[in-house]
Amino acid sequence: MKKLHASSQYIGLLNKLKIDCEKCSGLCCVALYFAKAEGFPADKAPGEPCKNLMPDFRCSIHSELAQCKLKGCMAFDCFGAGQKVTQSIYSNKTWCNTPKKASEIYDVFLIVYRLHQMLWYLLEAFAIAPAAMLEKDMEALILENEHMTNLPPDEILTLDIDNYRTRVNQVLKKAAKLVFAATNSTAESKKGTDFMGKNFKNTNLDGKDFSMALLIAANLEGCSLYGTNFLGADLRDTNIKNADLSESIFLTQGQVNAAIGNRNTKLPAVLTYPTTWQ
Ligand code: SF4
Repeated sequence: MKKLHASSQYIGLLNKLKIDCEKCSGLCCVALYFAKAEGFPADKAPGEPCKNLMPDFRCSIHSELAQCKLKGCMAFDCFGAGQKVTQSIYSNKTWCNTPKKASEIYDVFLIVYRLHQMLWYLLEAFAIAPAAMLEKDMEALILENEHMTNLPPDEILTLDIDNYRTRVNQVLKKAAKLVFAATNSTAESKKGTDFMGKNFKNTNLDGKDFSMALLIAANLEGCSLYGTNFLGADLRDTNIKNADLSESIFLTQGQVNAAIGNRNTKLPAVLTYPTTWQ
């Protein structure tokens, strides 16, 4: 089968979207709302630091997250928004050393997080060979995204993100359709999104549209997933052991971190194997 992902001129930009907690001020562990039921240590309100966050912004139980079954912490991926906000937008002014700015910093973080997530998907779409005809549209949206995240905080806070998101979604949908056509898939078109616990073991799911699907605890072991669309799918505890996701589309590191795989799971080249996988 032909490779769907080509090498991209944006590999440098893609690397900047990789999470780098060392360069952040623990923003996700403070700014976000958490629920214990979703795999975080306790219920907490936005702006309240997690009790495990240390003064140097490290997590005191980082090496025990898997043992403590803190799936929410393990799966969360800020798409590099944490380091961007801490280092570049606020030049190391943090919620801790500049408490008067804390609330503004959290709001900016949430906007940059959404923008970086969309940028990740755009960069992924840009690297998909069958979507090459959308290159100009994607390039314009990528440049617009970069421009927005380089604005000063007061301007970031007034951005019309919903309008931008609508335009991004339109391009991503077109890209997904082109991939579907290129897979020569016989997978049935989308029927529902709830596949919680469903057993697909060893099924050919090439070209299947799992966008926004609930795949919690579903069994995708040994599945072929060529061109399968995982945009926004919930992969918590999804079994992807021995599955081939190397040419799946719109798969993120957070989804992979939340799933259960092994060393025989094949991942897209831009994603890494969670340390917890055997
Ligand atoms: S447990 Fe650690 S990683 Fe999870 S929210 Fe708290 S400080 Fe962050």
